[in-house]
Amino acid sequence: MKKMIVVAVALAWPALLAAQMPPAPAQSQPAAQEAKPVMTHRCEKCNETFKSAAAAKRHFVKVHNMKYYCAACSEGFKTKAEMKEHMKTVHPKPAK
Ligand SMILES: [Zn+2]
Ligand SMILES: [Zn+2]
Repeated sequence: MKKMIVVAVALAWPALLAAQMPPAPAQSQPAAQEAKPVMTHRCEKCNETFKSAAAAKRHFVKVHNMKYYCAACSEGFKTKAEMKEHMKTVHPKPAK
């Protein structure tokens, strides 16, 4: 039953630390909010943002079962035809 004790101690740790640490003082001063995180890829379905196109794609595939997605505006599609149609209507290539 040694394992049980270890688990109990491990679970108690955060509580012990919290008891020893004084609560963080509530700061009325506005924090510097100039540094905005660069989240350029946003999921159109759930408004989640991602730092990279790769992360957005992974999210589309995993969460929304989207196999295709628009690299230009990060919208996801279940079929290639849907994506093609989107590319044609939303991002038409300039005619030569
Ligand atoms: Zn999403
Ligand atoms: Zn698009």
